[in-house]
Amino acid sequence: MRRRDWLRTATLLAAPPFIRHARAADEPRFALGVASGQPRPDGLVLWTRLTGDDLPPQVPVQWELAHDEAFTRIAARGSEDADSRWAHSVHAEPSGLAPGRWYWYRFRALGQQSRVGRTRTAPAADAAASLRLAIASCQRWDHGHYAAWRHLATQDLDLVAFLGDYIYEYPSSPMAPRLHKGGLLRSLDQYRARYAQYRSDPALQDAHAACPWLMVWDDHEVENDYAGTHPSTPLGADMAPLRAAAYQAYWEHQPLARAQRPRGADMPLFGRMDWGRLARIHQLDTRQHRDGQACPSWPRTSGGRLVREADCPALDDPSRSLLGAAQERWLAEGWSLDRPWNLVAQQTLMARAGLPDQGRWTDGWDGYPAARARLLRTVAERRVPGVVVLGGDVHAHVVAELKADFDDARAPVLASEFCGTSISSHGRAQRGWDAARAGNPHLLHARSDQRGFAAFTLDARQLQARLLAVDEPLDAASAVHEQARFAVDAGRPGPHRA
Ligand code: FE
Ligand code: CA
Repeated sequence: MRRRDWLRTATLLAAPPFIRHARAADEPRFALGVASGQPRPDGLVLWTRLTGDDLPPQVPVQWELAHDEAFTRIAARGSEDADSRWAHSVHAEPSGLAPGRWYWYRFRALGQQSRVGRTRTAPAADAAASLRLAIASCQRWDHGHYAAWRHLATQDLDLVAFLGDYIYEYPSSPMAPRLHKGGLLRSLDQYRARYAQYRSDPALQDAHAACPWLMVWDDHEVENDYAGTHPSTPLGADMAPLRAAAYQAYWEHQPLARAQRPRGADMPLFGRMDWGRLARIHQLDTRQHRDGQACPSWPRTSGGRLVREADCPALDDPSRSLLGAAQERWLAEGWSLDRPWNLVAQQTLMARAGLPDQGRWTDGWDGYPAARARLLRTVAERRVPGVVVLGGDVHAHVVAELKADFDDARAPVLASEFCGTSISSHGRAQRGWDAARAGNPHLLHARSDQRGFAAFTLDARQLQARLLAVDEPLDAASAVHEQARFAVDAGRPGPHRA
């Protein structure tokens, strides 16, 4: 025991019982904030996690959901046991709620009350609706501050879709503007501590408390560029225990349903939801079920790199999948044919961004071109209306036309893509994106030099997109400006400047 810890323990033991009690009451129990997610017409998920070193194995937590911010009209209430085996997280699932309504919620435990969060249910399946949605991804703590979250929390949004890289597993360079606590993540306790650090940020807490979120993960919630069961270095031994630890900590810290709780190294994540008659939102998982990247540096490992088609015939192998066979089939059979919009919330850039002389990046959809063409051919064959692919991962605002054949300049545009830039993670050099655009005319916009998020307003006639960017990423109070504006008209695939 370190001297300071020993002194603290000694003081605690020596103190009379009422002082010990007072000390426990002072410890903040809701230091990680509150969150909600997965809105359905009649229910949703409320989340919090209790904090403190002195928590008993089980703590009863009361939750309340009200029609008003003052909690004078209670819509639902209940109690859940926060359990140390799940990091004292709470995942409450109120049901029987009214569709298309805003609610306020809070938790109580150990004599303390949480802050109040705001959330809402989805519109009824047959109701006319509009939607205000933001996408965000890649919030690397030690790369900058969260002015983007601060700004997002002030927007009047119905829904936030977080598209991956909620945490990063790396240790920090001592020169970083703010530091990760601890080193490279390998154990459950290390992953938990990293989530607790990220969730301590007040701007991120405000964004979670503002509206419900949809969650999908990418690689850094586990380790860089892992692929299914393949670790990304030959040194990283067995992937299963790492995935089990990382997936458990992910579930513990997100507003996910109890039915999604991981079993060992597997966690059910992909799913879909309807937003009235307006949109179907498909949430994809491009990490857990994928085949390994083509032509890795070492056998049996994963990891993205640039490879030329001529050097890597496996790139075009039609049996390789980014979603896995079961999820591909589930997506192909689940498009909505009677709503104007099908939004695809997934992790990475779908449009081709590679160049013949420089090669293709094997970790993204460019590394799984046959699977990409299968998906887009289904969209064409079934005449799926309003497909808009939303993504992250590449730390750049990218707007693109999606085609089944990117080599054919006259191939029809089948869908639209908006890939949002990172909240804080560094982008790659802009000149690389300028070259990618020159060789890929379907890329209408590509800016890696700014951090931010993208916000969308949808109705039955049009989707309007605003690409937002932080002025000063090292300033938590920075202003945010509009980098560009696009629109997609219902019934006419492809984005245009607005
Ligand atoms: Fe990232
Ligand atoms: Ca990523």
